[in-house]
Amino acid sequence: APDYIHAITPYPPGKPIGELAREMGIPEASIVKLASNENPLGMSVRAKEAAVAALVDIERYPDGNGFELKAALCARFGVQPDQIVLGNGSNDVLELAAHAYLAPGSSAVFSRHAFAVYPLATNAMGARGIEVPARAYGHDLAAMAAAVATDTRIVFIANPNNPTGTFVDGSELEAFLARVPSDVLVVLDEAYTEYLSEQQRYDSLSWLPRFPNLLVSRTMSKAYGMAGLRVGYGIGHPDVVDLMNRVRQPFNVNSVALAAATAALADEEFLARSADVNRRGMAQITEALAELALEWIPSAGNFVTFRVGNAAAVNLALLKQGVIVRPIGGYGMPEWLRVSIGLPEENARFITALRQALA
Ligand code: PMP
Repeated sequence: APDYIHAITPYPPGKPIGELAREMGIPEASIVKLASNENPLGMSVRAKEAAVAALVDIERYPDGNGFELKAALCARFGVQPDQIVLGNGSNDVLELAAHAYLAPGSSAVFSRHAFAVYPLATNAMGARGIEVPARAYGHDLAAMAAAVATDTRIVFIANPNNPTGTFVDGSELEAFLARVPSDVLVVLDEAYTEYLSEQQRYDSLSWLPRFPNLLVSRTMSKAYGMAGLRVGYGIGHPDVVDLMNRVRQPFNVNSVALAAATAALADEEFLARSADVNRRGMAQITEALAELALEWIPSAGNFVTFRVGNAAAVNLALLKQGVIVRPIGGYGMPEWLRVSIGLPEENARFITALRQALA
């Protein structure tokens, strides 16, 4: 394998809950997992029914073009099918962009403390990653625009960002797009966009006619509660989408996932409930963090990152009480932990365990 493959540090997998329970000597059912920014409501019942119904034809290959899901996305967002590329999770979408645009001798720009898949996908293509220092743990868009080099082919931006939850508003993103050369693809990763408040919301898709180098990436894993099924989508100019489809595996999204995602898009009530549960849970958890006099980063996502100092020790103390959160030392934040927002009782379990861990 090329040296640049040997140089990659793999994405660290989480431990299965069963194994963790055995290790900690606690019952599996008592474990609260708030580690992967999943939806504590599960997924829409209508989507689940569609998933089960799709099993009837499971011996058939999926529709490699995702006709029905694309039609649902077109109806929802006012775009055309040739503007959509489907992914096996939005990680796949990010990787397809890297495959289509990066090669040895090119570079990609991303922020410090940004989502781990950007450097991974960049390095896997033998391209150079240009990591731009963060501003208040979030994207410094001016510095990122200035960091674009002559060999830069992609800029990755997560809004809101994971693991910091930071958010830049739409007008700043628009100004950024106007500054970036038109032959550089700007991948705007909106994995958590459904959690934005009314005031934060912006319409990135309306920028596409002016910025054909914009690719908006979204996922069904978070607010739609379908992380295990793996569905994401990218929306961009047909020429961008065409390049990505050239390197896409023919059947990258399975038939159960396609059916579930199509049904999930129609269940607006579920989406609204997910955002509502998140908003309340965020208040519940940040109030407790304030009481404990901990520093945290205001988050626009379904998780919040807070500073504990010795994160390894606090994490272990939480694990012993059956609460799983995410240490983010790998993101260059060794003193911080990230907790996903759960149901009220799960949040309460986390808060009690944290209080105990810090006592
Ligand atoms: N982008 C961001 C910013 C994320 O946090 C995640 C999930 N951790 C993803 C993309 C990928 O999620 P998925 O592949 O499940 O769509």
